[in-house]
Amino acid sequence: MSGGLDSVLAVKVIQEQGIELEGVAFETPFFSANKAVEASRAIGLPLTVVDITEEHLVMLRAPRYGYGRNMNPCIDCHILMLKKAGEIMEARGAHCILTGEVLGQRPMSQGKQSLHVVAKRSGYQPYIVRPLSARLLPETMPEMEGKVDRSRLLDIQGRGRKRQMEMADRYRITGYATPAGGCLLTDPGFSKRLRDLFAHDTNMEIRDLELLKVGRHLRLNDETKIIVGRKQRENAIITELSEDHDIVINMRDIPGPTVLVPYGCGGEDLRRAAGICALYSHAPDGLKAVVEWRTGGSAQYVEIEPTDEEGMPKLII
Ligand code: SF4
Repeated sequence: MSGGLDSVLAVKVIQEQGIELEGVAFETPFFSANKAVEASRAIGLPLTVVDITEEHLVMLRAPRYGYGRNMNPCIDCHILMLKKAGEIMEARGAHCILTGEVLGQRPMSQGKQSLHVVAKRSGYQPYIVRPLSARLLPETMPEMEGKVDRSRLLDIQGRGRKRQMEMADRYRITGYATPAGGCLLTDPGFSKRLRDLFAHDTNMEIRDLELLKVGRHLRLNDETKIIVGRKQRENAIITELSEDHDIVINMRDIPGPTVLVPYGCGGEDLRRAAGICALYSHAPDGLKAVVEWRTGGSAQYVEIEPTDEEGMPKLII
């Protein structure tokens, strides 16, 4: 379940055959199951949410079928999700896996060849039914065995949404006009930061991924990246995500950003980071201001002049 209209319609089409269903939604730091939870609640579908972060990250570093326009490895991601769904199917003693995929709707992941590859590599190909496009695809085991009536499945294909909208009207489904979306891996800005993280940090933790979602990120050099809060809410999140081995920088006497140096840095980089903190603060131009840097339980104070703004754009990730 993505929670998008197609996944809801796939459920409806199969429920009409009197078949009992359970929804499965997946989550990672890049996408949440919130829409699936909302949609499942609205149609009374029991839902299991599974966190697949660990396996997803391993795949994300080197996806066999590559990335889409950004850092979205949609084919490998679908394979992983179907594999997990297959394991759940087996554990529950269920008979098949349904998806809301529509043939030809997304060029990269829903072409005929991709649908075939995804199903095959998941290891559960014979059990995967795509109710919205099933009549355009080879017959699956549950159809052959008569557990799912193929004649009542559909033959939707392409990017148009007309038939889905008509079905939504017929089933009185409202509020699902747009596809679920919301995957950060399809976002160009987020993808750039993620690429930078992968290139520089081999031992990253989940919180390093969470940090990619907040503030302005500046790379000072191969060893040091800093994160600058842009508003109070971001300052609070950065502080909350900070750990003892980081350095947290704030202005002592005037309003300014919270700057985080994940995993700390040497003295020269620290002074640069402090200067950048002063630059984005209310410190008067050209005058020194007091900056506090804190690591673990201890704090130090230094007087520093705001960094010159000129070289800044080059540092921004
Ligand atoms: S958009 Fe994101 S969640 Fe969806 S298949 Fe692609 S990588 Fe996976």
